[in-house]
Amino acid sequence: MSWETVVGLEVHCQLGTRTKLFCPCSTASFGKPANVNICPVCTGQPGVLPVLNRAAVELAFQAGLAFRCRIEPRSVFARKNYFYPDLPKGYQISQYELPFAQGGTLAIAGKEVRLHRIHMEEDAGKLLHAIGSEELPYSLVDFNRAGVPLIEIVSEADMRSPEEAFDYLTNLKAVLQYAGISRCDMEKGELRCDANVSVRRPGEPFGTKVEVKNLNSFRAVRDAIAYEVVRQSRAREAGEAIRQETRQWDAAAERTEPMRSKEEAHDYRYFPEPDLVPLVAEEAWVARLKAALPELPAARRARFVAELGLSDYDSGVVTAERALADYFEEALAAAAPEAGAKQVANWVQSDFLARVKAEKTSPDRAPVRPAMLGEIAKLVASGSISGKAGKDVFAACWETGKKPSDIVAELGLAQVSDEAAVAAWVDEAVKENPQAAADFRGGKPAAAGSLVGAVMRRSRGKANPALVNKLIKEKLAS
Ligand SMILES: [Zn+2]
Repeated sequence: MSWETVVGLEVHCQLGTRTKLFCPCSTASFGKPANVNICPVCTGQPGVLPVLNRAAVELAFQAGLAFRCRIEPRSVFARKNYFYPDLPKGYQISQYELPFAQGGTLAIAGKEVRLHRIHMEEDAGKLLHAIGSEELPYSLVDFNRAGVPLIEIVSEADMRSPEEAFDYLTNLKAVLQYAGISRCDMEKGELRCDANVSVRRPGEPFGTKVEVKNLNSFRAVRDAIAYEVVRQSRAREAGEAIRQETRQWDAAAERTEPMRSKEEAHDYRYFPEPDLVPLVAEEAWVARLKAALPELPAARRARFVAELGLSDYDSGVVTAERALADYFEEALAAAAPEAGAKQVANWVQSDFLARVKAEKTSPDRAPVRPAMLGEIAKLVASGSISGKAGKDVFAACWETGKKPSDIVAELGLAQVSDEAAVAAWVDEAVKENPQAAADFRGGKPAAAGSLVGAVMRRSRGKANPALVNKLIKEKLAS
């Protein structure tokens, strides 16, 4: 009997506000010098009081609504006490017993993963280790991140494989980005994930879980879970008990290592934050936030299928990221009515995404803007340029940022669709290839191929192939 994987995920997500959760300091800490965005509040000076950021609360509640959580009419901030040099107050303001959102779901391939809760909290600062000399090593602390607003999204232990965890994170990020709650840039620490992993015999109660930290990418989450499942099931096979502990993923060594034994909630001596009143969510306000939620990934995917006639697969690819779905819709608007949704989706999925991936950029930063891609699709669909020329124009657009029509003119790629000009080439081709013409008239349609080839050579590849085919058939039928 094999071991079953059981995974629950805890995701910290930075809310996309300009300022911190309890003070007016900027949240733009990435790439900034240390300790430039700090004030007496977020550095925990005596006598200061926190003032709750309304924009942060609105984004947090919209996350709760996007995941169909139960929104609590009353939630309470609490102090989570622990001593660490990156925590200037000696406690973190978080929500504990009464979070603002409970329950909720997120669909992944083939199942719905239940959410346990979502709560708001402030981020801690950042320690910079390994500074100083060998004789006098020391660490520095940067409080730019201290007080940055976060939500923690806690799932139930509903995932049963590393791949399901990967799917969950992919879809979670898509919802957060679509709803404008967070940019979710993992490199900037805007999305962080801890995984709770255990194994059991199917049907048995949950085994002891191990928390894995230091997961810097979705791939790291998947690999760390896969590693833990092997480690834990081997230990269980050998009759060893699993220790409840926190481990960290070492991506280079591709293994988890013990970090510390897991804290219990009572270690934090939680108590209600005396400097903040309970957060009361009025129904009308929650309804307004819900009405203001933009279209979410599942709805957009369904709309592209129902209204634009895309296949499920194509729709899934172009809606995977909000920036890509926006790009696709803008390109389609520029390409219509000559090019349809399917054609534009093909351009987005082939040339565009290949280049975006190869250059490690993103749809909103690509030098070929949506209107440009739409124009290329339009030029090809209308027969102004060939499909092959379209690919060349795309590549030149990417390199130069010039307009597709300018590139077509510069490179002399315009297709000749003028009937008189193409008819003249057809006449010459038929005259020079009497055998092919006779074969075609004698009932061999394949013989037209060599005539088409002759026309394309004469036109140096610029004759519109559809027109060439049409004119050859007309000429030989007469
Ligand atoms: Zn501050």
